Amino acid sequence: MNLRGINDLYGVGELEATGSALIEAHERGHDLGDWGPTIGKRMRVAKCRGCGRLVWTVLPPGEETWRVGGNALSADCAPGFRRTLRS
Ligand SMILES: [Zn+2]
Repeated sequence: MNLRGINDLYGVGELEATGSALIEAHERGHDLGDWGPTIGKRMRVAKCRGCGRLVWTVLPPGEETWRVGGNALSADCAPGFRRTLRS
């Protein structure tokens, strides 16, 4: 069972979603900067200081559950160098 890069989390609020995103990104070696301003009240984005990949939390229209996504969650941090994925 592969939980890495998970992008569907059910029953979570914005804080939990943000926490999950931070943990997921940290496990891949990313060093997230500050979360940007909320985009349209339904999306926030943070960028890795190392490689520039993004993590976001988003609240889909009509839903009360925040989701987590971003290319930082599907790849390890590789500042300035594009490494081959191991898995
Ligand atoms: Zn990174």
